[in-house]
Amino acid sequence: MFRLARSFKLLLALLTGAFAVLAIWASFLIVKSQKQIVTTPRYNYSFDIAQASSEMLRLQVALASRLVPQTGATDDDVALRRDILQSRIKGLLDKMLIGYGPSVAASRQTFEDINVAVETIGAMFEDLDRPEVVGKAIAILKPLNRQLVRLASISHVEGSDAHTREQGHLSDAFTALSAIIVAMILSGISLLCAVFVQSEKAKRTALRDDLTGVSNRLAFRNQLRSKKPYQSQAVVLLDVDHFKNINDTLGHAAGDLLLIAMTGRLVDAAGEAAMLARLGGDEFGILFVGEAAGSEAQSCAEAILGSLRAPLFVDGHSLSVSASMGIAVDERSEWRDETPLMKSADLALYAAKAAGRGCARLFAPEMENGLIRRQRILNGLKMAIARNEFSLAFQPIVSLETRRLEGFEALLRWRHPSFGPVSPAEFIPVAEDSGLIVEIGRWVVEEACRTAAAWPERISISINVSGRQFADPRLCGCIEDALLRHGISAGRLNVELTESILVEQDEDVLAILMRLRKLGVAISLDDFGTGYASLGYLRRFAFDKLKIDQSFVRDSPSDLSSLAIIRAICDLALALGLKIVAEGIETQEQLDQMIAAGCHDGQGYHFDRPLSAEAASERVARDGVVALSAMPAAAMRCPVEQVRQIA
Ligand code: C2E
Ligand code: MG
Ligand code: MG
Repeated sequence: MFRLARSFKLLLALLTGAFAVLAIWASFLIVKSQKQIVTTPRYNYSFDIAQASSEMLRLQVALASRLVPQTGATDDDVALRRDILQSRIKGLLDKMLIGYGPSVAASRQTFEDINVAVETIGAMFEDLDRPEVVGKAIAILKPLNRQLVRLASISHVEGSDAHTREQGHLSDAFTALSAIIVAMILSGISLLCAVFVQSEKAKRTALRDDLTGVSNRLAFRNQLRSKKPYQSQAVVLLDVDHFKNINDTLGHAAGDLLLIAMTGRLVDAAGEAAMLARLGGDEFGILFVGEAAGSEAQSCAEAILGSLRAPLFVDGHSLSVSASMGIAVDERSEWRDETPLMKSADLALYAAKAAGRGCARLFAPEMENGLIRRQRILNGLKMAIARNEFSLAFQPIVSLETRRLEGFEALLRWRHPSFGPVSPAEFIPVAEDSGLIVEIGRWVVEEACRTAAAWPERISISINVSGRQFADPRLCGCIEDALLRHGISAGRLNVELTESILVEQDEDVLAILMRLRKLGVAISLDDFGTGYASLGYLRRFAFDKLKIDQSFVRDSPSDLSSLAIIRAICDLALALGLKIVAEGIETQEQLDQMIAAGCHDGQGYHFDRPLSAEAASERVARDGVVALSAMPAAAMRCPVEQVRQIA
């Protein structure tokens, strides 16, 4: 298409050039014809012949009057007449030489005859007082009179013909020139139109995102800058959650298709937005302008969240995609600088991601402080191991059947020198993003094994492992070393990972899990039900335990669907021979429901909060006297022993 337009433009340019050359050529012809028309009368041959003819007659009259005594012409008069005639004839012959004059071949002969006649008469000058000589001279000249008059009339006709012809040429040349100029103007206009259309197209292309067809970052920035003073603007900045994983697992082509499908949803949700743009990668921006900009932006964000509840169909896959959004509103500010608005939206987006993604956050000034705090947390994390600021808390995991202590989950704790205790929910993502989690994770493995070494053999120890740690080639070696060094059998160690890790790295993670399994380490799927819930992973890797996410447990007494999900997970796990651990059990009611659903183990404040290493050891010591109470074993849907046999 672009090539065609370029060829068309080239053709038009060539045509315009050719017409310009033709116009120059036609102008040249016109000038030439005009010159011809001007010179034709100047070299009017018929006039010269008429003059010669009258000189001829005058000479004859002079000759005739030579015979009249006293009043007649003198010899000098006759000589003068003869000279005049001779010069006229010579002039005519000269003109013939340069191409003017009548075309009849006879004319030259006539002029030469007259010349000869005049010469002959010249020779008679001595005897011009004799009438017979004069008569003879007149007789020589007389026959030439008719010829000269005939020539005069022919040359008159030819002269006017030539004039008419030149005028015809001139008018033809004028017509041609006019036509050429019109054609040149038309092709010039077409060329200008083509250039204009193409430059408009180029402008549009420069402002459009190739993949999705919506506006691009440049257009978005231009639109933001076109704000009038005191006009309200609101921006929704959207980032597709875990887009990189989709690209990595399904390929870039599928990633592109996902972005296109996503754009479709955004277009629907954006409604009357001033602009929807893809700002790059998986980031989109939606701009609202006018009094209601702020509320429109918020409604738009809600509509997007709603529309993403339905999966996107991409390349034969049904994908559950979520997005994080940051909203910032500029309420009738005087400024036309887009930077603060975009920065605020960016901070709000960041807050949405920090809040667990899949949600929208409206910018609040405190968010700026949040960013500074995150930076300080990052700086603090870099020194935390060296400064001995980390510790582990151990949360008991108990058997729901016997209430006996099965093991502990090691939970990382950090006391920041200025902030005090910082929640893992806050610092773990920072450690993951910065890669510091690898080094911190090694410390956790070492510390957990060191602590567990003091406990009886039957007490297990669970550690949480992040996605970034699976990219560490030394992960297995580090675990193996720690087990050996502290004399812990691999079967006591439980590695907990979340579903998202599997989505992120899949093959590599499965290979590492296989190696750990070979060592004898048990593998648990943590926070089950909250992630991507791709049950395919359960088929591809034989996990030892499923830990039902605490959000389901928390809601189970009030929300029937949470309970239904828990029951479904338990049925599935039982069928696969997996052990089920319910996380976050806080109340007796929740405990009863988990037991009834078929969970084997439980963890939560109802039993114990995360304990210090010393408190955990005391808990181990006390465990022997923990009463077997509450639910009779018969009420269990599937006793643990039975599951162990299945597994
Ligand atoms: P998680 O692995 O799911 O750990 C359980 C979280 O639930 C812990 O939060 C625990 O204190 C909390 N919890 C336990 N019982 C209850 C309860 O009854 N009610 C409520 N509301 N909460 C309960 P914590 O310690 O804040 O850890 C949060 C998350 O941080 C962990 O979730 C885990 O994903 C991550 N994490 C903790 N330690 C580590 C670590 O050493 N390495 C890595 N990679 N992640 C860790
Ligand atoms: Mg865990
Ligand atoms: Mg968990």
